[in-house]
Amino acid sequence: MIDFCILGSGIAGSTIAKLLSKKYSVQVFDKAKGVGGRTSNKRLKKNLSFDHGAQYISPKSKKFKKFIESLIKKKIIKKWEGNHLDFSFKKKDTAPKYIGMKGNNDLSKYQLKEVKFSLASQIVKIEFKKNIWEITLKDDSKYQFKSLILTCPYIQTKSLAKKYLSKKLFNLKINMEPNITLMIAIKNKRKLPINSIKFNDKILAWAANENSKQRFNSNLNLWTIQSTLSFSKKYINQYKKNFNIINNIQSSFLRLTGFEKKNVVYKKIHGWKFSYSDKKTVLKSFWNKNQKFGICADWFNGPKIEDAWISAHDLMKKIKKNPLKL
Ligand SMILES: Cc1cc2nc3c(=O)[nH]c(=O)nc-3n(C[C@H](O)[C@H](O)[C@H](O)COP(=O)(O)OP(=O)(O)OC[C@H]3O[C@@H](n4cnc5c(N)ncnc54)[C@H](O)[C@@H]3O)c2cc1C
Repeated sequence: MIDFCILGSGIAGSTIAKLLSKKYSVQVFDKAKGVGGRTSNKRLKKNLSFDHGAQYISPKSKKFKKFIESLIKKKIIKKWEGNHLDFSFKKKDTAPKYIGMKGNNDLSKYQLKEVKFSLASQIVKIEFKKNIWEITLKDDSKYQFKSLILTCPYIQTKSLAKKYLSKKLFNLKINMEPNITLMIAIKNKRKLPINSIKFNDKILAWAANENSKQRFNSNLNLWTIQSTLSFSKKYINQYKKNFNIINNIQSSFLRLTGFEKKNVVYKKIHGWKFSYSDKKTVLKSFWNKNQKFGICADWFNGPKIEDAWISAHDLMKKIKKNPLKL
């Protein structure tokens, strides 16, 4: 029997999987078709793609900076240099920004290189009986593990693991905000000298020019456009059915950038129901050594990739403190 089942192949899941796999056998399950969770990368064709989740890494802590430096040396990630502007074109954002060499899910891909993982595998039920964890997938298949780790957003954690959470964890007030993102490809020779831009608009919050990440050469201009929090909150439950939402984001973008509608050759919308939580909790992760049950994710610590990574390291510390007899 495998030692650890890990739900999620995002930053938290792939980080804890890599750490644990040095000593234990591990299997990761993710409901998505690709790895990376909220750092997913959407392919348009060949090497043309959009980072439609997390945009870039901006490390703050010493430990995470060191980790990022090691990944730069290994050519897993690189610096995203150039013009990061606000809409006045006056203020340039000069904080260092790091991205994956091919996509922002490169970090998860790298960490899962030597780990067994199963995609398109949604865990719908977890049960702890006779000291063993049994997980049930959407297709009703069942698997057994000695230990279980969850890394999904708080709301999903609560509904899946209700009876296994401590009171403190269950009663946390964590609100994860939505985000509606539009990916758009424009056939146009005119290239704006912009890598990313913050808008001052009711609908648009931010846009990134994917070409500026220098992962591909193309006549198409690829843009990832994020809508504002108020717009996302209003429409997150309708974006799949209501085409006015795509049209509203697109027309605001065209109006603000001067691109023409007739040149738009591709568009795809994605809604993130739980994109981030701005709060920090007093816990950095959760570990119940009696049940061999753990949780790590960004929402313990904040809204960023770094917060998910820190949570996974904190969980590893807790597991190491009381080595498991498996
Ligand atoms: C639009 C957007 C923009 C962002 N921009 C930035 C940014 O610029 N910089 C930054 O640092 N951070 C940014 N973030 C936040 C960043 O993406 C997250 O903090 C980080 O990726 C969270 O990692 P995680 O592993 O905790 O969670 P996740 O990435 O959400 O991983 C959870 C995984 O669990 C899987 N899963 C969930 N339920 C199940 C189930 N029942 N069965 C199987 N699998 C399941 C999911 O598919 C997912 O892969 C952004 C997020 C969004 C959405």
